Parts: sequence; C-alpha cells; structure tokens
Amino acid sequence: MSHVELAVAAPAEAEETVVAVLAACGTTGSWIPEPGEVRGYFRAPARDLEHRFEAAWRETTGVPNPFPVRVGPVTPEDWLARWRAAVRPVRAGRLWIAPPGAVVEAGEGERVVRIEPGLGFGTGDHPTTRALLTWIDGAGPFGRVLDVGTGSGVLALAALARGARAALGLDPDALALDNAARNRALNGRTGSFKLVRGSLDALVPAPYFDLLVANLDGPALDRLLPEMALRLAPGGRCGIAGCLKGERDWVLGRAEESRLELLDERDDPDPTADGAWWSGWFARR
Ligand code: SAH
Repeated sequence: MSHVELAVAAPAEAEETVVAVLAACGTTGSWIPEPGEVRGYFRAPARDLEHRFEAAWRETTGVPNPFPVRVGPVTPEDWLARWRAAVRPVRAGRLWIAPPGAVVEAGEGERVVRIEPGLGFGTGDHPTTRALLTWIDGAGPFGRVLDVGTGSGVLALAALARGARAALGLDPDALALDNAARNRALNGRTGSFKLVRGSLDALVPAPYFDLLVANLDGPALDRLLPEMALRLAPGGRCGIAGCLKGERDWVLGRAEESRLELLDERDDPDPTADGAWWSGWFARR
C-alpha cells in the first residue's frame, strides 16, 4: 500500500507540536529523521493534506503554521530502507550488535553479533535489550538458553556468541521469526539456534534451561514468570526486561513466589516517555 509523506521543517522546540498536529490529521506514524525535520505518513490518497495540516495547526495552537511543509509520495519500503541505513553498531560489555556490513573494530575477546534491521524487535540499541545483553555478557557462558519473545533473535545469538551450547527462541509473531531466522543464518548458528512460533505453551514438557531471558512487558512477565522459573535448571539465571519502574514491586513479588532470587537490577531512562525501564537478573533458589 502506498503512502503520502508530509514533512515539516521545524526546530526541536516545535517537534512535539508538529507530532501532535500530525496525529490530529490522522497520521499512521511520524518520525524525526534528523533534528529540524518531522515527517508524518498517511495512507494514499491523502487529499488536501496541506490544508488539513494547516487547519489542524490552527485548531491546536490558535495561530497559523509558521514552518515550511512539503508533501510527496512514499512507499513503506522507503521507511524501512531509511531506518536500516540509520542503524549503527552498539556495544554491551564485550558484545557488539551491528547490522551486516557495518565496520566494527572489535577488541581482544569481543564478539560481534550481526542483526539485520527488520520486522523483529531488537537491533541492540533499546535500553531493555542492552540491560539483558550486559548480563548475558558478564555471566556466561551458559549451556542451554531459552529466549522468550526472541524478536530479531538478538539475545539468543548474543548468548551463543558468548559460548552457549544451544538456544531456543520463542515468538508468536511470524514476521519476527522470519527476521530471527535470517539473523541466525547471518551469524552461522543454523545448527544451534532453534526457533518455534508461540510462547511457553509451545514448549514440550521437560527441558530445563541454564539461562532464560524475556524482554516483554510487566503484565506478560507477571503471567509467565512462574512457568519460566519451572524451566530453570538449578543454579540457572533468568533475566527479565521490558517492565516499567513502577511495576518493579509487583513483578519482584511474582519472582519471589516463583523462587527466583534477585541478583542484580537496573533502571534505564526511557527517552520517549517520562518513566524508566526496570530490568532484573535472578537465580533459581
Ligand atoms: N528479545 C528481543 C525482542 C524483544 S521484543 C530483545 O530483547 O530485543 C518482544 C518480543 O516478544 C516481540 O517479538 C513479541 O512478538 C514477543 N512476544 C510478545 N508477547 C509474547 C509472549 N507472551 N510470549 C512470547 N513472546 C511474546
């Protein structure tokens, strides 16, 4: 499906207003490719877009829009291509997460995991992914790894790069699994990284894992933690992320009931909201 793009040349202090006005016009998404420009996307045909933007601007602010506006066609592939081009290598401990082809000057003992930016979440730059990468790097190597909500496969591939024997990635999202499979091949892990569509209930009874990681959200973790804990081998480690700081206490309560002992925790600011992320690292009691 093709889209129409409306680009507004607005300074940083006006970005929030532009995003709000784009939302009022019914944008399917907006982003800021670089400081000084905000773009909103609309399903084609988006007739009279400039006029609608102008009217919504007046409605929101009470004054005429002072910034230059440009309207033009765009296809969804363009967004993905632009976003891909903007992804840079990131580092967590001795692990690098980098798109294919990006030059990484990895030091002694450092490992590079290649992640093709795609429809699976997890190019390594999100604070929740980084929290778990840092623990995976610091505490490994692990034997068997279970990655609940694998997305791009980044956490499982990082554990394998740090010496894990085998990893299993679960995700209910078929597009994420496609991306994870591509990344598995990119990193030469076809034999050691299994991907299964679904969540914990897609697992056959039995196997225990030495490392469990789950970057989900507070309610999903609250629901899944007891069962995750049952899958953890004695002495195994479990890392969770994706909770908000305000959810810490009740997620910790659930972990406690599930016989998970807190070893480490961290808060990371969420630059897109006022709150903060909370991540926890546990051992099976
Ligand atoms: N592990 C990656 C991706 C996290 S995004 C990283 O840390 O960067 C969360 C992923 O969990 C998404 O791909 C989503 O499809 C998946 N997911 C959502 N709910 C789930 C559930 N109940 N069980 C398993 N996976 C789930």
